[in-house]
Amino acid sequence: MAADHLAVDLAVTVRHDGHDGIADDLAAPEGLTGWVRAHAGVLAADLEPAGGAAGFTADAAALAAAVEVRTAVRALFARAVLPGPPSAADAGRLPSAAQAADRLNAAAARVPYAPRLDWPHDAAPTAGRTVAGAPSAADLVAAALARHAIAFLTGPDRERLRACPAPRCVRYFVKEHARQEWCKPSCGNRARVARHHARHRATAAQRAAAAAPDAGGATGGDGGGGGGASGAHGGTDLAREA
Ligand SMILES: [Zn+2]
Repeated sequence: MAADHLAVDLAVTVRHDGHDGIADDLAAPEGLTGWVRAHAGVLAADLEPAGGAAGFTADAAALAAAVEVRTAVRALFARAVLPGPPSAADAGRLPSAAQAADRLNAAAARVPYAPRLDWPHDAAPTAGRTVAGAPSAADLVAAALARHAIAFLTGPDRERLRACPAPRCVRYFVKEHARQEWCKPSCGNRARVARHHARHRATAAQRAAAAAPDAGGATGGDGGGGGGASGAHGGTDLAREA
């Protein structure tokens, strides 16, 4: 069975929008409905008391519960990637790691389980579990997401968690191999292109300034300014990811 990375999948519902902004896949209940259904396999047992994950429909309470768990997860991911930088999407706006752990534990406790013995006539006994009480769909979602997050954070894959350092990217990812730098190849391509353009702009601005001072105006005036603009651009990317 594949490793349980549901918590990472939850975290990356906060993503860059392809420009300079942040998009949120969980901005409305429909977003959570789609996300849960897309993860119906891994959530099947958790949401069985609510009729399963494949036919799950989120309401406002379930959305609020899921977003609260996601905020806690992102705060704990920011701690997990230390001493590396966190995702820039919400750094500085997250609860402390201690507060986040409290929220995660409170969410997990919204659905208590009792152990259960199953012993059919023709088979060996097995230990099962029964949901105690009558949890709401929001309780089930919150508890399920929290349990998967606890499993991830206490498992071996936490040490390979990283925040992608590519320009504009705000994703967390689990490194598949030691040399992996980016969450996906397109981020590596974008980072290389950005570096190339930064170098190219600096060179072009210096040449343009030398030939005709006006031509370099768009990228920052004279040769010294062009170099400065390039440096500032690199600094902007770093600041955005920091
Ligand atoms: Zn990335």
